[in-house]
Amino acid sequence: MLYRTMPRVAERLSILGFGCMRLPTLNGEIDEPTASRMMNFAVENGVNYIDTARPYHGGKSEPFVGRALKGLRDKVQLATKLPSWLIKTRGDLDFHLNEQLTQLQTDHIDFYLLHALSAGRWENLLKLDIIGFMEKARAAGKIRYICFSFHDSLDTFKKIVDSYRWDMCQIQLNFLDDNYQAGVLGLKYARGKDIGVVIMEPLKGGNISISIPPDLHSAAKEAGYGKPTLADLGLRWVWNHSEVGLLLSGMSAPEQMTQNIESAAKGFPGTLTPKELDLVKTAKDLFVSRMRVPCTSCGYCIPCPKGVDIPQCFMNLNNAAISGNWEAQKAHYNYILADNRDGNKASVCVECGACETKCPQHIPIREKLKEVAAAFEMS
Ligand code: SF4
Ligand code: SF4
Repeated sequence: MLYRTMPRVAERLSILGFGCMRLPTLNGEIDEPTASRMMNFAVENGVNYIDTARPYHGGKSEPFVGRALKGLRDKVQLATKLPSWLIKTRGDLDFHLNEQLTQLQTDHIDFYLLHALSAGRWENLLKLDIIGFMEKARAAGKIRYICFSFHDSLDTFKKIVDSYRWDMCQIQLNFLDDNYQAGVLGLKYARGKDIGVVIMEPLKGGNISISIPPDLHSAAKEAGYGKPTLADLGLRWVWNHSEVGLLLSGMSAPEQMTQNIESAAKGFPGTLTPKELDLVKTAKDLFVSRMRVPCTSCGYCIPCPKGVDIPQCFMNLNNAAISGNWEAQKAHYNYILADNRDGNKASVCVECGACETKCPQHIPIREKLKEVAAAFEMS
């Protein structure tokens, strides 16, 4: 494992962090034995940054992390987030932090982030003296580093960066989204102000880690790239930026963790070859031309009152569009979403619109679900 430092953070952090938002599941619940084994494996292999948040796995990620870190807590830096969209009063701030400490079974959270800030949420939090709250929590030893994660425009990002002496910020970045939200410009801006940067969605919710499509075979061969998927290239593209502190991967299976740990051994800045960079460009052009929905599978839009598994619907649509294998994705969609086993199909949507107000990517979810139903539910 390689480690990097951030200007205002004392610890050296593994360049691969374990994001606990897409843990392995069984029958819709966290597959706790497998997920716990992954936690142990990660720590044994040098991962020292664990990230969770209140909404992950319908509120079950934080309690899981609390249990899984028994005996490991002092080996890792623990990050979780204040659910900024749920905060109406000053009392809500204390409520969430105290409950998080209880569920995580710890007396302190190392990195405490204001979750998914946008202009409106930031304005609301400022009215509640959020910085005063965070500094008081730090003085009381409940949190150590004051941070935020972000989903809005670059201009808003710069305003938030400039409004406090943050220890770290977390942004979305991958080779498909290099110019989206904060993007590479935001990464450089924050680092230029001595704020450490953690990257989320490095593989765009798994869209980059599908098997290499036939159209890319010759470019991959030219670059000497022998992996079956683009995941390794996607992660190394992020680490190629010297301003990146670490990236979070929401690993859902032990094999993904093994592969990502292998990739992390090569995650030095500035080491992608010109041919690998050409491959990134070719892959990006191809993916962008094919993707139907810019969904990152973040899951903020769920639960849907009708149980529609929105991220799964869009994952299947994008994978089919990128790979060209519509039949396989149709079969997968109908298998995964059969009889509401893990969630409902797109056609169950009643167009209430509740999901769209929560989507950080501002996707017209109702309209896109109709495309999903047309692609996979018509015989
Ligand atoms: S618009 Fe459809 S998918 Fe979205 S929350 Fe309502 S029922 Fe669910
Ligand atoms: S539709 Fe939006 S909120 Fe839902 S998973 Fe995709 S990106 Fe996230």
